[in-house]
Parts: sequence; structure tokens; C-alpha cells
Amino acid sequence: MRVYIEPANILIYEEQASSGKKAKGWFGGFCECGGTLIQRTWHNINGRDILISECDRCWRFKLIAFVEYEVYEVSDVVSFNRNNLREFFKSFLSEAEYEAVMTKIAGKNYNYSAFSRAKKRFEEMGLDIDSFLKLI
Ligand SMILES: [Zn+2]
Repeated sequence: MRVYIEPANILIYEEQASSGKKAKGWFGGFCECGGTLIQRTWHNINGRDILISECDRCWRFKLIAFVEYEVYEVSDVVSFNRNNLREFFKSFLSEAEYEAVMTKIAGKNYNYSAFSRAKKRFEEMGLDIDSFLKLI
């Protein structure tokens, strides 16, 4: 999974989440659409320094992972913003877990055990589901 959560600058990479530090540079390379990649955030996950950049033309996100200053991987990242963050929950959780999470944020009676399973799945990546839900 290579997922970037824009509102919180969180990268999820190899099942680990990392909250990024704002990049100081700006040029992140060229996108295949011909646009310029603009540096957004730096992350460190599993010993890799990872730069997230955004294309100024097609608005796609890319990652470049480095190991000891050598490029280890360049790939596309699926990004989510406030408008489609629910899609991330939908793709990541089971149907019952997703249902429970959405019912909880609607303030209705929710399936407690399905919600705690969802909470645990977030915890395993190093994320707190409650602070995440505030973004929706
Ligand atoms: Zn592009």
C-alpha cells in the first residue's frame, strides 16, 4: 500500500504510517505528463527516506524512496483529501468495520466490536483512528 493522506501529511508505506516533515526544497523531478513535481513532505519508514511530491499539472502524487542516498524506488501514490477520505476507509476496512466507523461518526449506535477491529487495524500502522476521523 502506498497511500498519502493530504490533510494530515501522512504517508502509508509497507503498512507503516508516517507523518511527514515539510520539504525545504521544491523541485522533485518531472512527471510523465510533462509537469513538474513539487516537493511536499519527507518521511522515514523502515530505514528509508521517502520524498512525496505532487505534479503541478495532473496533481498526482509520487514517491521517491532513498536508502543511503541511493534511489530505491519511484512510484505512484494514491492520495486522499478531505473530499474522498471516506474512500480510503472503504478500501482499507472490511464492510462491517467501515459501517461501524461511519455510524459512529454519524453519532448513532454502532457495532462496538467492528469498530474496535477497525481501531486496531489503524493502530497496527501507527495511526490513531479518532484523530483520523476528525479529518472527515
Ligand atoms: Zn503529472
